[in-house]
Amino acid sequence: MMQIMQTYGIVESVMKRAHNKSLWPRIEPLLAQVERPSRYINGEYGAVHYDAVDNDGDAGESDQAAAVASLLNVGLCYPASYELGQSNQALHILYDQVNQIEGIAAQRTFLPGEDLSARLREEQIPLFTLEDYTALCDLDVLGITLPHELVFPAVLEVLDLGGIPIRSADRTEDMPLIIVGGPASYNPEPIAPFVDAVFLGEADGGALQDILVSLRDMKAAAGDALPSRAQTLEALAQIPGVYVPTLFDAGKQQAPITRRVSQDFHSASFVPSCLLVPYAEPIHDRLTVEVRRGCTRGCRFCQAGITYRPVRERSADQIVATAVSGIERTGFDEVSLTSLSTTDYSLIEEVLMRLKRRFAGTGVSVSIPSLRVDNFSIDLARILADRGTGASKKSSLTFAPEAGSQRLRDVINKGVDEQQLIDTVAYAFEHGWHRIKLYFMIGLPTETDEDVAAIGDLVNMVLHTAREAALPSKRGGIQISVSVSTFVPKAHTPFQWEPQLLPEETLRRQKILQDAIPRKGVKLSWHDAEGSFVEGLIARGGRDIAPLIEEVWSSSQGAIAYVDNFDFSYWQTAAANLDIDLTTLINRTVDTTSSVVLSGAHKREVEESYPLPWQHLSTGVSIDWLRDEAAAAIAGDFTPDCASGDPADCSNCEACDNLDVDVRLATEEG
Ligand code: SF4
Repeated sequence: MMQIMQTYGIVESVMKRAHNKSLWPRIEPLLAQVERPSRYINGEYGAVHYDAVDNDGDAGESDQAAAVASLLNVGLCYPASYELGQSNQALHILYDQVNQIEGIAAQRTFLPGEDLSARLREEQIPLFTLEDYTALCDLDVLGITLPHELVFPAVLEVLDLGGIPIRSADRTEDMPLIIVGGPASYNPEPIAPFVDAVFLGEADGGALQDILVSLRDMKAAAGDALPSRAQTLEALAQIPGVYVPTLFDAGKQQAPITRRVSQDFHSASFVPSCLLVPYAEPIHDRLTVEVRRGCTRGCRFCQAGITYRPVRERSADQIVATAVSGIERTGFDEVSLTSLSTTDYSLIEEVLMRLKRRFAGTGVSVSIPSLRVDNFSIDLARILADRGTGASKKSSLTFAPEAGSQRLRDVINKGVDEQQLIDTVAYAFEHGWHRIKLYFMIGLPTETDEDVAAIGDLVNMVLHTAREAALPSKRGGIQISVSVSTFVPKAHTPFQWEPQLLPEETLRRQKILQDAIPRKGVKLSWHDAEGSFVEGLIARGGRDIAPLIEEVWSSSQGAIAYVDNFDFSYWQTAAANLDIDLTTLINRTVDTTSSVVLSGAHKREVEESYPLPWQHLSTGVSIDWLRDEAAAAIAGDFTPDCASGDPADCSNCEACDNLDVDVRLATEEG
């Protein structure tokens, strides 16, 4: 009988390290030599361990060996530090759901710190999982989350450290299957040669079960290993949402491969059976409860706005029950209600009020990650401001107007105006807040220097309003932070055909911005111009970007895997070595001679000479709708939010029909 053990402390966890392939004896001596060994010591509260016991409750050696051999060993990898990975909500969901499937063990692994990576290489010890220190190369399956494009070199580093050849073509039959998924997998072509399969969509709600149960049963039928890679991949390619690049290339998988969504997100119980509480402090040290999936506000630059359609909401009862159970079981003192746009959740005020009552006097706070300018209601502000929820006025309010001028906000379909922002700021500062964070972008399609300068004008207005409205006691402490990123056109969005700024032009516009933003009272920060350039290069790249990623990774000797080590010169040198012109590559789907958006006819011309690398993959949203939205951007036409509850607001993107799922909003009735 196989039994899941949840361990609650290091002593018990050490006792569970019975796996005969455990690397623990070799890893333990290294931990005293590296920073933050708590990243690697396992045994966190809520961690799940498999232990084999016979029917008498004793772990007989033969029973144990047989049981371990028949388990499908699945590694779940977040290719960044433990602190970042443990903060990832999807990892918690997957860890919980995989461990609930009979005969499958999920174990976590992260990109180790540079110091441990070096020691592992020196000692020739492969990268390992946390739960039982299995070498990654000994797993059956390694699932890797791709949170954004800049982690692609880190994926290669994880594979190499784990003793797995980085190119799938070089892997032998005994190597694990590498399956990637997550936000940056909607254009997987730049990473395709390094992976075996790509999952498109939401893994919870059935897809994960389909994939892993199929693999588990194949392993059980074949003995103690999966059948041949070719056979296994052919079976996986039959599962909706799974893309196998080698089979597609061989004509054995047909386009479109369509994104999978959770059909019962709104109704499924989502109180997880295991909740991890890390030893090493994660970036987000709190309980997270997902209240809503999807955002159909329709910002035309936003990939998540496309890849999570349509909107589905959980009931207020479910959310409150999950938050209460989670807090009781973990001891966290903060619960964050998450979604792409939490304040759009239909019953947000009711949920906040109920949680406020439930956690009164316990010191537990409730937070919301970001707010929209146009739905920051007075009631919501009052609830958030109340110390009973813990979200005190000391915390900052975050808004994302994205563009400085109304014209450009119309181009991107932002749907908010200057007056709404000013009114919101005035209200917030009148009621005691004194910190505000504003997000903007530069380089959006059709942007002019006047649009960039308009960001400065808007920030000036916000500062003036804040000073006028702030309570006298708070005036000295007003803090306005302005964060400016560079627009990166993403696959599957209405702006997928638009040009991206080259680094020199980004720097020129950043200078305009710097001159336009008031120096006193405002803290200005921006994304690195070259980092955004590389992000864009990969985001719209084809299979031919893969050698570049590999060259950058190998020439940096793995250093580029660490985001803090980003150095554009690695990319420039690698491009020169491979005879690649980066500036041509980044905008090859657009007319680089023009700074304006292409006409529809010209776009089609460009597409014929260079088809979009992701055109065989579908998010469920029709390409005609994307074209219409691109045209609406130029006309400045507004597309309404289809989650308004009014069917007349459906703009017929076709996601609901193609994915066989409907908009679901929470109501008082449930
Ligand atoms: S089909 Fe209509 S309702 Fe469904 S996501 Fe698209 S626009 Fe919204």
